[in-house]
Amino acid sequence: MTSVRTRTRMIERLRAQGISNENILTIMGQIPRHAFVDEALAHKAYDDFSLPIGFAQTISQPYIVARMSELLYAVPKHNKVLEIGTGCGYQTAILAKIFKTVHTIERIAGLVRNTRDRLNTLGVHNARLRHADGSKGLPELAPFDAIIITAAAPIVPEHLMDQLSIGGRLVFPVGDADQELRMIERLDEGFTETRLEKVKFVPLLPGIS
Ligand code: SAH
Repeated sequence: MTSVRTRTRMIERLRAQGISNENILTIMGQIPRHAFVDEALAHKAYDDFSLPIGFAQTISQPYIVARMSELLYAVPKHNKVLEIGTGCGYQTAILAKIFKTVHTIERIAGLVRNTRDRLNTLGVHNARLRHADGSKGLPELAPFDAIIITAAAPIVPEHLMDQLSIGGRLVFPVGDADQELRMIERLDEGFTETRLEKVKFVPLLPGIS
């Protein structure tokens, strides 16, 4: 059920869906997605769905994780990444293979606790988890070579642009019912914004719980 074959099928599907970065495909083939979801759902872990992870939150479908990871992989420096919305830590584990250090923020205490244990068990030791409202980013540790938000902001989070290093990318979903994936890139001077595909994420919420 959670065999290597199921994982291989997921990689083949990602390739067919247009994911072409071999490093991302290799990393996603190495990370046991079933270890991030409830045991009762483990048999569905490699299908292309989002799945519940408790606390009314979801783990994104493999395609969108791959897509966002591929966009971040293209930045010139792989030193420091910021993730807003740790959830079950699946995206975190992928980022931890791409970047030297991952700073990740989650607003739900129970998820932080579970995910910290899970990542330790899986031997992911370069991710720093924080229980906080991540919507303002982490100005005290900026600049980041990349920033990813895995919950949908109601409006473009322009205040995070200043936390990017030159060449850095901010990848995020924006909108409420109708959401779109976007990317802001920091150039030597100024920024560019690219509109990508339609997506469906849980909302970015204020405060902690
Ligand atoms: N990348 C995650 C996706 C989790 S869903 C994964 O692979 O599992 C998005 C997560 O963002 C949820 O866990 C939610 O609690 C969290 N979140 C929402 N608003 C937030 C905020 N303001 N700060 C930090 N985390 C937030």
